[in-house]
Amino acid sequence: MSIIKVQDLSVHYRNSQVLDRISFTVDKGDYIGIVGPNGSGKTTLIKCLLGLIEPEQGTIEIVGQPLEDFVDWQAIGYLPQATTIANKAFPATVGEVVATGLLGGKVFPRRLSGLDRTLVSDVLELLDIKDLQKKQIGSLSGGQSQRVFLARALVAKPEILILDEPTAALDPVTRENFYETVSHLNKELQTTILLITHDSATIGKFAKKMLYVDGRIVFYGSFGDFCVSKDMSHYFGDFAQHVICHQH
Ligand code: ADP
Repeated sequence: MSIIKVQDLSVHYRNSQVLDRISFTVDKGDYIGIVGPNGSGKTTLIKCLLGLIEPEQGTIEIVGQPLEDFVDWQAIGYLPQATTIANKAFPATVGEVVATGLLGGKVFPRRLSGLDRTLVSDVLELLDIKDLQKKQIGSLSGGQSQRVFLARALVAKPEILILDEPTAALDPVTRENFYETVSHLNKELQTTILLITHDSATIGKFAKKMLYVDGRIVFYGSFGDFCVSKDMSHYFGDFAQHVICHQH
């Protein structure tokens, strides 16, 4: 069953075309690595899926509904780039930050229920950060705070999780752990994952499919198919193709 369907999507800012007639579908339970050079339109694509940019052409369906009619935004968890969320002075505990991930589904006055507190506690447990619950968010390391914001994106139990360059500011060991955690969510909870990364040399170890964007779709499919594609050898060269594919 397709959970996201994008057809003929085009976006331009002022005079420059950023996305040119992009079409693809994502199945429930997929794990897609969205890869491409800087400025190739990856973030723009995600903003379209989140309804933050209105494309001038094309359609998007989420769980079978046109995006214009989609209301269940709790079904999509979003972890923005680390640089946009790292406000060290923000005076809140980890538990409070994670709980704000539940407020989108509430009307004023947006009070948390006992069930909400259980959801917060469960997600902290799931990500192995229960011991951080009472700590101030500003006192955490980069890897810890990234986990907290992942918990915030997950607390409402979304069907789709979108992550934009989640590991950019992390050291290699923390990065690997973070990828393992995301894989676990995909395998155990069948959460559909879309993960933007410029880390094309690592994502093949974890994601099931790659969407390579460069204004248009250069490649979309499994890493196995990528690996044997003659077109991709021409595009990337044999060496880079096999660094990316992780098949052998
Ligand atoms: P990526 O995420 O692949 O790095 P982006 O989607 O952020 O790419 O950006 C694609 C192109 O669009 C870049 O050239 C960028 O400078 C430009 N761009 C992004 N956002 C805006 C905006 N709000 N106004 C004008 N140009 C933009």
